[in-house]
Amino acid sequence: MLIDNFKRKIEYLRVSVTDRCDLRCTYCMVEDMKFLPRQEVLSIEEIIKLISIFNKLGVKKYRLTGGEPLVRKGIVDIIEYLNELKKKELIQEHTLTTNGTNLNKYSEILKKNGINRINVSLDTLNPERFKEITRWGDVNKVLEGIQAALDSGIKVKINTVVTKDFNDDELIEIINWSEKKNIDVSLIEVMPIGSIGEERFNQYKLMSLVEKDLIEKLSLTKSHFRTNGPSRYFERNNSKQKIGFISALSHNFCDTCNRIRMTCTGKLFMCLGQNDFVDLKYPLREKKSEDVIKMIEYAMTIKPKSHDFEIKKDDYKGYINRYMNQTGG
Ligand code: SAM
Ligand code: SF4
Repeated sequence: MLIDNFKRKIEYLRVSVTDRCDLRCTYCMVEDMKFLPRQEVLSIEEIIKLISIFNKLGVKKYRLTGGEPLVRKGIVDIIEYLNELKKKELIQEHTLTTNGTNLNKYSEILKKNGINRINVSLDTLNPERFKEITRWGDVNKVLEGIQAALDSGIKVKINTVVTKDFNDDELIEIINWSEKKNIDVSLIEVMPIGSIGEERFNQYKLMSLVEKDLIEKLSLTKSHFRTNGPSRYFERNNSKQKIGFISALSHNFCDTCNRIRMTCTGKLFMCLGQNDFVDLKYPLREKKSEDVIKMIEYAMTIKPKSHDFEIKKDDYKGYINRYMNQTGG
């Protein structure tokens, strides 16, 4: 079992299977993003080997992410492996965060391989706005993908990054659209991760203001529903829909953090908002599993108490110098 210095039991691994993506969301990447050379990226077999080691160390929940996990060739092999572990009751859950563009193709396969719920990122329902925020994406492809997932029996949650003066006027529409489809929504505060070629401060909308506004307009009340995750959930009268608020900056949620994140090159980050990592690729490629285990155990001793995110105008102290597609969301 993995326990960190603050007595938090670490049983949840997010695995970024690729840094590549078919979209270029403006809060996540620059337009001419440089991706990693292939030889630096772990092979599918290497990712599976690391998952098996984490599993032996007591990690029971896995979320595949990226970049866009569904553009990684061989992704189904990883999902099949996780499903085998689940059938043997060695893990509790495996799931996925996706931009939804490939769900039409993959939904049935995901369901067949034990994925019962997924998070889909969707910041707007408006085709023009979608093109603007993703730089070239087609929202209809994502909407069709979401429908395909629902039709396959997969529970969908939508993640919406709230960006100032972009989609902050559309949140009620997104929530209402989702409710009709029996979809929960989490609204996410922009985090200062990666240099995006424009002033991050301009994108930042304080989640506490969004929350206050929506509580009033939708008569939201606090939900008893909890996870170990960062969302604080609310609900409406006569509605089963859960509306979550994730505010890394204005509401620190680190006390109950049970997760660690591995990049597609095998770097293990103990916190999304800190720079410390251990690099598992070298012992892995030298076939020294014992050393991989020692490094993971060491990583527990350096998992920080909390992140130090901060977004201020012309002050970059609380910024993280790597892109979100590398560590995965
Ligand atoms: N491509 C997949 C997707 O978009 O769902 C998975 C990877 S993406 C990096 C994971 C999540 O991180 C998405 O919900 C995305 O909106 C969110 N994200 C990316 N950059 C972010 C930032 N700077 N602040 C807050 N959330 C961010
Ligand atoms: Fe791609 Fe997801 Fe980043 Fe958007 S948020 S660019 S879909 S990795």
